[in-house]
Amino acid sequence: MIADMIRDFGAKEITPFRLDWDERNHFPKELFHKLGELGLMGVLVPIEYGGSGFGYFEYVTAIAELSKLDPSVGLSMAAHNSLCTGHIMLFGNEEQKKKYIPKLATCETLGAWGLTEPNTGSDAGNMKTVAKEDGDTWIINGAKNFITHGISGDLAVVIARTGEVGDSHGMTAFIVERGTPGFRGGRKENKLGMRASETAEMIFEDCMVPKSQVLGNVGDGFIQSMKVLDGGRISIAALGLGIAEGALEESIKYSKEREQFGKPISSFQGISFKLADMATQVEAARLLIYKAADLKNRGEKVTLASAQAKYFSSEVAVSVSNEAVQIFGGYGFTKDYPVEKYYRDAKLCTIGEGTSEIQKLVIAREVLK
Ligand SMILES: Cc1cc2nc3c(=O)[nH]c(=O)nc-3n(C[C@H](O)[C@H](O)[C@H](O)COP(=O)(O)OP(=O)(O)OC[C@H]3O[C@@H](n4cnc5c(N)ncnc54)[C@H](O)[C@@H]3O)c2cc1C
Repeated sequence: MIADMIRDFGAKEITPFRLDWDERNHFPKELFHKLGELGLMGVLVPIEYGGSGFGYFEYVTAIAELSKLDPSVGLSMAAHNSLCTGHIMLFGNEEQKKKYIPKLATCETLGAWGLTEPNTGSDAGNMKTVAKEDGDTWIINGAKNFITHGISGDLAVVIARTGEVGDSHGMTAFIVERGTPGFRGGRKENKLGMRASETAEMIFEDCMVPKSQVLGNVGDGFIQSMKVLDGGRISIAALGLGIAEGALEESIKYSKEREQFGKPISSFQGISFKLADMATQVEAARLLIYKAADLKNRGEKVTLASAQAKYFSSEVAVSVSNEAVQIFGGYGFTKDYPVEKYYRDAKLCTIGEGTSEIQKLVIAREVLK
């Protein structure tokens, strides 16, 4: 039902506009308010906080279907749900949840989540943004970059250093509202793909936030973030799955229609074997994602399963979209068909929320325990 609803909605609200958004590097913020009305911006949020109250299978389905239509929309939806909303749901106190979650769940408020900095991406624990205690407030100074909704987000969860460099308990998470003096969006990135998902800097200059905006305990921000990312990685895996499924579906259709040497190109073994590999990779990615989703639904540890799902599915998205362009030949290199966009968008999956190399570090650490 969720997949059907997204397909119907997307045929009117996404597909006709996606190429224009992509070419203009335009973030369609209004679309996310509509997705909020459909319950897709608070998929995992319990009903008592105004969300849809679903589990990870529904969440994965929603992200994959949206990503098939436009991966940028899938990315923004996933970042809002998993990172900003997810962090407050997991570590916020009752007062914070009551204040922020209902508006996030309907996307009256769009969320951002800031961990990455210009000099610390994979090595986020060495961040330079600092928060200093001053009476009843914390004063934040520094800059975050590559932040999804860094300019358009109405609310941000920001992780800043409150202790020593090198101390994993030396960072704290804060909720910062847009409009707080000293907090502003910075440069918007001009990207290879995912161009309709806004990626931008967030800048903090003597930004004063009340102590009530601290999420959980002072010093727990980094550890909290790793837990948030454990779940978030399932969503990037689902994003990769949607891209790979979309690229495969388009390739099957095209290979039956396109004729060369008097035959559909699907009748050439060279092409049909590509489709066989692509279909097998997609299915394997789906099963790894479902395994992680099932563990998450049951409240079990997902560090290994979500890193494996994210790593595998991201690489599958890149390889399947690459083969899709090949199957389309010259037409795959044009904007007349959606596969060139899948090809560009897919690459983000092997980078965002921990690169493939970092997933391998996580997987190796877990299997060597
Ligand atoms: C479109 C987009 C959206 C994003 N959204 C957000 C967001 O909303 N919030 C947020 O906080 N961040 C966000 N990010 C940032 C993203 O999480 C980082 O880009 C990512 O973690 C990698 O960091 P980096 O870009 O600094 O690369 P680096 O960490 O500099 O990595 C460069 C290369 O070195 C490799 N490498 C690094 N360390 C190791 C190691 N120990 N062993 C082996 N190889 C290593 C990496 O795998 C990579 O290949 C986003 C990024 C993009 C592109």
